[in-house]
Amino acid sequence: MGTIRALRHRICSMPLVGQFQVELPRYWAAKRPLTPLSIKNMRGYYRHTKIIATVGPATESRERVTQLIKAGLDVMRLNMAHGTGEWVTEQVKTIREVSVEVQRHVAVMMDVKGPEIRTGTVAAPIDLELGETFEFYTKTPRNGCRGVDVNYPGLPQDVHVGTTILVDSGLIRMEVLEKDEASVRCKVLTPGRLGSRRHINLPGVDVNLPSLTEKDERDIRVGVQAGIDFFALSFVRRADDILVLRALLDHLGSKARIIAKIEDQGGLRNLPSIVKAADAVMVARGDLGIEIDYHTLPLVQTRIVELCLTEGKPVIIATHLLESMINAPMPTRAEISDISTAVRERADAVMLSGETTTGLYPLECVEVMKNIVRSIEPTEIRGINEVIELKEPKAKMLRSAAILAQELGNSGIIVFTRSGFLAYTLAALRAVGVPIYAFTDDEALFRQLLLPWGVEPFLMPFSEDPEETIQKAMAYLKRSQWTVEGSWLVVITNALAHDKVIDTLQLRQVE
Ligand code: PEP
Repeated sequence: MGTIRALRHRICSMPLVGQFQVELPRYWAAKRPLTPLSIKNMRGYYRHTKIIATVGPATESRERVTQLIKAGLDVMRLNMAHGTGEWVTEQVKTIREVSVEVQRHVAVMMDVKGPEIRTGTVAAPIDLELGETFEFYTKTPRNGCRGVDVNYPGLPQDVHVGTTILVDSGLIRMEVLEKDEASVRCKVLTPGRLGSRRHINLPGVDVNLPSLTEKDERDIRVGVQAGIDFFALSFVRRADDILVLRALLDHLGSKARIIAKIEDQGGLRNLPSIVKAADAVMVARGDLGIEIDYHTLPLVQTRIVELCLTEGKPVIIATHLLESMINAPMPTRAEISDISTAVRERADAVMLSGETTTGLYPLECVEVMKNIVRSIEPTEIRGINEVIELKEPKAKMLRSAAILAQELGNSGIIVFTRSGFLAYTLAALRAVGVPIYAFTDDEALFRQLLLPWGVEPFLMPFSEDPEETIQKAMAYLKRSQWTVEGSWLVVITNALAHDKVIDTLQLRQVE
């Protein structure tokens, strides 16, 4: 039968530390949407929505990485706005070693910093006053008003009289009064204290920055060497930005998947082509909330998720989901609602940033996310994804598989995949209550299957004989308590019919 290298065990029900629980085996005990009461009675819970956490000073130790992986994290994010190449190499090594040790694997995402506009260094913070004239210069200051240098020589060319300039995550607001080739003079509309190297946003301005900086390229090369599974590209403004990164990854021999971070109006304008070009999308609400009218953010989030559901691409909701838990052990009521909204919108994943990089309660954050997902997911009563466009006959067959598995109840779908297409499409169908057991013999793909909604991947060599492969997969699922005797599974596999390979959808009972 051969050895199954099934890499993803979640069979321990012992507490991790204190009130924290490691992920349980995943059963789905009822056919109909579950009430909170019946969830409590289940031995385990199959979580569809994935959890991503950013690694930082609060969580980069081996001990913390171990706790986070055991707690149920699916993807770990390394944010290159703060990280160096050496740190990436070290961190990926730790994550991989710990994964083997605890027999639970996670994917690693590198968040590439991307180009950004920043103010220069100031000797002492400048207290800006309402209505004063302030200058951003790219070469030397002009006399007559206070000012600071900026790192982007194209700033005067990109803005116009009347353009809004936001500094320090939108805390300071200015309006352009006049400009020449090397400087921009503004009126301060919202005063504040300007420190060194503050981030500048130009809402609605089509900036002429490259999609990748030299630092980005260096980081990506290190990331490829380290075996990064997903590269998230910041400030994607057009599909071409994705193609530039794709060409670099191809050149470096990496098959890593690309996540487009949507964080400004340019990205929103070109959303349809970006979603098509990327492998996944992140709603990067930190910058997006500055770059667009903040009160339209929920509408934009819904629109991005819907478009990703139409295109069958994974979508991540990022930033400020549990911001208050950086300093407090419990979430605010608004944060609970925010995560619930992401789950109800059927996002693939929810992401933690500051909460797990510098926060005091990183493990509590994962626990809170799991609890909210567990309460909300089973109450989703919509049927299969109604907006997805399935073109291939094989993809249409997956819809039937998902409906069949839902109808059976306490079921699941087994799929064998080498490109990931079948598993990614099944995930996009959003069959609530139907685990997707994706078997692959490709280790890189195995980790890339950890992001999409409801997919539980397993690494296993395939046999020449498709029937033997099915038997091995079913035996493994039973042995590791993912399934129980008597339950029905829907199997998507190839079969030989008079020497022709055909696609089949089969109904199998666990023995
Ligand atoms: C964001 O802006 O929401 C985001 C995820 O990007 P970063 O953390 O790089 O600001």
